[in-house]
Amino acid sequence: MIPVQGYDGRQVAVLGLGRSGLSAARALRAGGATAICWDDNPKARDAADAEGFDIRDLTRDGAFDHVASLIVSPGIPHLYPAPNPVVAKAWDAGVPVDNDIGLFFRSLATQDWDGFDTVPRVIAVTGSNGKSTTAALIHHILQETGKASQLAGNIGRGVLDIDPPGDGGVVVLELSSYQTDLARALTPDVAVFTNLSPDHLDRHAGLGGYFAAKRRLFAEGGPDRAIIGVDEPEGRYLANQLAEGAEDDRVMRVSSGQKLGGPGWSVFARKGFLSEWRKERQVASIDLRAIKGLPGAHNHQNACAAYAAVRALGVGPRQIETALATFGGLPHRSQIVAEANGVTFVNDSKATNVDSAVKALLAFRNIRWICGGLQKEGGLDGLIPGFANVRKAYVIGREADGFAVQLGGVETEACTTMEIAVTRAVSESETGDVILLAPAAASFDQYDNFEQRGEDFVARVQEALGG
Ligand code: ADP
Repeated sequence: MIPVQGYDGRQVAVLGLGRSGLSAARALRAGGATAICWDDNPKARDAADAEGFDIRDLTRDGAFDHVASLIVSPGIPHLYPAPNPVVAKAWDAGVPVDNDIGLFFRSLATQDWDGFDTVPRVIAVTGSNGKSTTAALIHHILQETGKASQLAGNIGRGVLDIDPPGDGGVVVLELSSYQTDLARALTPDVAVFTNLSPDHLDRHAGLGGYFAAKRRLFAEGGPDRAIIGVDEPEGRYLANQLAEGAEDDRVMRVSSGQKLGGPGWSVFARKGFLSEWRKERQVASIDLRAIKGLPGAHNHQNACAAYAAVRALGVGPRQIETALATFGGLPHRSQIVAEANGVTFVNDSKATNVDSAVKALLAFRNIRWICGGLQKEGGLDGLIPGFANVRKAYVIGREADGFAVQLGGVETEACTTMEIAVTRAVSESETGDVILLAPAAASFDQYDNFEQRGEDFVARVQEALGG
């Protein structure tokens, strides 16, 4: 655990008692603060009460008297679509609002660091898609090359739950836009921006607010190295804004598809090969095509971002190449879950938006595509570039018919349930086909979360294969 510094002997309110809220409360207590906890859900309050935390209804008048700060969980709206009433009360009381990420950055460095040869470093990854994969890949490469790495944030452990890093230790954080929007301290040594596409727009009042939230990772304090995906205008804008000039290699540009070069530092993937360029010269090249854990151009983008991040820490290209080859991929992200009778089964249940789903469609051919669910804003037209690879769509979800009619140009069948979709896709499949779950929609109409949807897919595949 990272004991929170700066609040010794003071009261700090914690709103939202899920995983990150409870761990913030514990870390505050370990740092000598009194955590005052609240959650609308009585069960969550009971859990905090059982650990001996003070429970106080933060919606009451005067609840913020003598409170030094309010720590808010990422699931709680702090501004849009409307501020949570407790957050608004803290504003009115003049109490600074923060989150566990802010506490982490202000508490990480300790006096022990004075005795270290290499001070611990933090790599933080944000972006719309590929954060988890990129963060996990960075962690994997660091571990394979013998570095003491810890993975935390949205993936792995809560940020305040990690062990204080030792001499030369590295902490790899995956940060969502909710987290970067609110944190009062954001000082990674290396910051990664993977890409940008519309998501969570209700929580940020549109794309501009969403981008602004992510950009804070590069503004507050400024990382030593910024690794920026430049395949969208927002990434190019950010890279331009951070760099002093074309040769400024504190900014490393990353692309999947474009050849980058020039006097600066860049990493890009084209036709399955990763290239690193610095000062007009190619430094290294790696063949990514055979890496099973990283299929498709989107994963090659993740590989480039991860490669750049560990290069920024001084890891050599050949070591990275060896480590990349053993990356197994993450569950529910373009994950090959079975191969039988010449048919490959891929679980990309995490493709909850159109942008990630089209990347999956572009990564494979002869696709029998299981899609559908709770549709997000913005329509389905973004999927069209992937349709050439689709043999047929098997649509699931409560609104399967409505979803299917929007997929003009592809043969569709409204299956509604995963069981029917898998059965139908398997019965029609031929050698060389890929049965791909890439829903392009949220799962909440039929499942608790995308993990449960992916597990259902895997279970139905096993059944269909007679296992
Ligand atoms: P995040 O943590 O940002 O949600 P994940 O690594 O969990 O990212 O991937 C989320 C979804 O996006 C998955 O469906 C995955 O296959 C897809 N994906 C992964 N990397 C990228 C990328 N670079 N660009 C677009 N989609 C991606």
